[in-house]
Amino acid sequence: MTNSYDRVVDAHIPFLDLKKQYLHIKAEVLAKIEQVLDSTSYTGGTYVEEFENAFAQYCQVNYAVGVNNGTSALHLAMVALGIGPGDEVIVPANTFIASAWAVSYTGATPVFVDCHPGTWQIDAQKIEEKITSRTKAIIGVHLYGQPFDIDAVKQIAHTYNLFLVEDAAQAHGAEYRGKRVGSFGEMACFSFYPGKNLGTYGEGGAITTSQQAYADHLRRLRNNGATERYYHDELGFNMRMGSLEAAVLSIKLPYLDEWNSRRKQIAHMYQQGIVNQNIILQQQPDFAQSAYHLFVVTTPNRAHLMQYLNERQIFPGLHYPLPCHLQKAYAHLGYQAGDLPEAEYLSAHCLSLPMYAELTNMEVERVIEALNGYICPKS
Ligand SMILES: *Cc1c(COP(=O)(O)O)cnc(C)c1O
Repeated sequence: MTNSYDRVVDAHIPFLDLKKQYLHIKAEVLAKIEQVLDSTSYTGGTYVEEFENAFAQYCQVNYAVGVNNGTSALHLAMVALGIGPGDEVIVPANTFIASAWAVSYTGATPVFVDCHPGTWQIDAQKIEEKITSRTKAIIGVHLYGQPFDIDAVKQIAHTYNLFLVEDAAQAHGAEYRGKRVGSFGEMACFSFYPGKNLGTYGEGGAITTSQQAYADHLRRLRNNGATERYYHDELGFNMRMGSLEAAVLSIKLPYLDEWNSRRKQIAHMYQQGIVNQNIILQQQPDFAQSAYHLFVVTTPNRAHLMQYLNERQIFPGLHYPLPCHLQKAYAHLGYQAGDLPEAEYLSAHCLSLPMYAELTNMEVERVIEALNGYICPKS
């Protein structure tokens, strides 16, 4: 059997290729862009609302509020929850740094929690020991597209009266116990950075919520704190979504499920095909249906494997080489190497295999063959 994905094999297999997807939808995108430009409605307004409505429906929530990027989405979620100086927010140590920035921007302090050694998601068992009288919220991250254990984290949030915010920047379309992520916390934050599962041509983000009061407040906050033009009720921000970015997202959203299911096929090929003892895959709990934003593995000697793959024209990514608590920007928080050992192990040994919907079966097989032929040096 052949399918449309069995095409010519390029010599070079990058971690991500945005060009192939663009070529599939180019005509549609260009027509829509022309429509936006002709309308002279360049920011906020109709095109943003059109996308917000479609995305809220996709996420099975009442409201989606479009903003200028995923970091702003997280930042505004913190502001809307009233997080500020003196407060603490629980954040996983292994995530993209923006999950923590959002807390710091408000003057509050991120408190980092280690990850589970098998799923690499926030370890719910290690949250309670980090809770103090100042803790206000937990940001759970569906890292690599795979939902964290939402019920376990929600239970803790409930017991200690904390807000729960989902960082779903990598998880558009991922499911937790059969329900799409984006609807489990007070709010969920998405990024539409070009390389995400749903990415625009530029920058974009959104907050989803089921509560109208939050949605109204977020709309005001992104628009300079104004409901009526030039009357500013509170300290606001210019974090509106642009019309071109929104229009591109409206074109792409109907394709998301198809692209995600191709990512799932590729992930299954990796999961079935990789049999090398020195390549460790991410554990997949029954409750989680990953959107496979990234396909991360660990290996005892990453530099060696990286070089081996590069010599074979395969170019993996690194997500992420240094956990948040050891970043220089957070040196003042006083964490030491060894404080969060699982996150530190992951950051030193992880490697992200090529993963995007347009990878051909032959390319995926070439990656699998290379990995199975890899011999790890004795340490
Ligand atoms: C991409 C990402 C963000 C930030 O989104 P931007 O649109 O780049 O600002 C936040 N959290 C996670 C987990 C991400 O992957």
